[in-house]
Amino acid sequence: QTINQEEVSAKTYVQNVYETVVKRNPQEVEFHQAVKEILDSLVPVIERHPKYMKAGILERIVEPERLITFRVPWVDDNGNVQVNRGFRVQFNSTIGPYKGGLRFHPSVNASIIKFLGFEQTFKNSLTGQPIGGGKGGSDFEPKGKSDGEIMRFTQSFMTELYKYIGQDTDVPAGDIGVGAREIGFMFGQYKRIHGGHEAGVLTGKGIGYGGSLARTEATGYGCVYFVNEMLESKGLSFDGSTVVVSGSGNVAIYAMQKAIRLGAKVVACSDSNGYIYDKDGINLDTVHRLKEVERKRISEYVKEHPNAVYTEGCNNIWTIPCDIALPCATQNEIDEESAKILVANGVQAVGEGANMPSTLGAIDVFLQANVLFGPAKAANAGGVAVSALEMSQNSMRYSWRFHEVDDKLHEIMKNIYKNSVKAAEEYGHPGNLVVGANIAGFLKVADGMLAHGV
Ligand code: GLU
Repeated sequence: QTINQEEVSAKTYVQNVYETVVKRNPQEVEFHQAVKEILDSLVPVIERHPKYMKAGILERIVEPERLITFRVPWVDDNGNVQVNRGFRVQFNSTIGPYKGGLRFHPSVNASIIKFLGFEQTFKNSLTGQPIGGGKGGSDFEPKGKSDGEIMRFTQSFMTELYKYIGQDTDVPAGDIGVGAREIGFMFGQYKRIHGGHEAGVLTGKGIGYGGSLARTEATGYGCVYFVNEMLESKGLSFDGSTVVVSGSGNVAIYAMQKAIRLGAKVVACSDSNGYIYDKDGINLDTVHRLKEVERKRISEYVKEHPNAVYTEGCNNIWTIPCDIALPCATQNEIDEESAKILVANGVQAVGEGANMPSTLGAIDVFLQANVLFGPAKAANAGGVAVSALEMSQNSMRYSWRFHEVDDKLHEIMKNIYKNSVKAAEEYGHPGNLVVGANIAGFLKVADGMLAHGV
């Protein structure tokens, strides 16, 4: 497919690339959505630098270098054989080894993995660290599984995945459904099969065997640091604000913790079944214990805090009035209608802790209403940024203290903010961080691809 032979307008070029993606990947709606958001931002870049069109950079950047699909057989507690499907997309290795999490969730398919891997490429570039883009996972449902089942599944997953990864080639980490427990099982299996102690092959490891302090907190803290930069630019702050956070996993919990420490009141959070609303402010210790230690449903919260209200279903969480909304659950959790309600209720800032939590329509609503909007690629880059710091520490065989990592994370988030603001301004969309983050992330990868030849 060559569309770069004769010069067309930047708009036509971008449109042609998008149509090719849709044709080549039928039905992969999440992937189309992520590609559309990036490509639309890049029109002014292509206008100013036709070299990217001549070198076919867009045609190449939307096609993963490799997509690996594999069978994951395992035995459940009843002795039955189960089969799931595993994925790893190695999207782009221009600026470093493929880097990105593994997601275990029944919704996982090629479209989800590709949208995540595509976004990861630009997010990782934005961190300023030498990491390429990758992502993986399985349609395995971890909910309701015993420790033994989780162990046997993750071991089987790694028995195939180990062939494709390594500290200099591809470095997986966690995502939805994959936390310290799963990373531990996978690290053990990799070590057993591969031999040696290759600490840098996975990140998000336990502190005792090569993990980094502040990695657990990094995505949530980073998101709040990013939103704080946006707020400060308008003379606003977390102090005294009301915050709604969706999710109650690792990202949500530490976003809530940092927001509370900065003086905010967090009044709601959720899991995939429903949400809790506590007008006096959520008790984070209870949420942490229920979700991370006891692995229970968020609905249990109201048994311990009768003032709080539990509502089944998640969409209505965005009808709760707030100053700051932090979607930290999953993709497309804020649609156009929810965005309109948030705006009508006076939301000032939105920081995306999850990957692609707002639909394209919702993003438009926020931008039109001049709501401060921190897109996922920028606002949730703190997790993978500290993963890269974990890789650095593994290479040095050395560990930084908590505050050393946290200070570096803070600095990285400030830089991402600054670079996104600058790129948005330079390319004619002042204040639009969606465009700014996409362009800033793109330029580094694109220039590397130019340098490396076809
Ligand atoms: N899953 C996280 C993300 O979406 C972290 C990836 C990593 O640490 O490699 O960026």
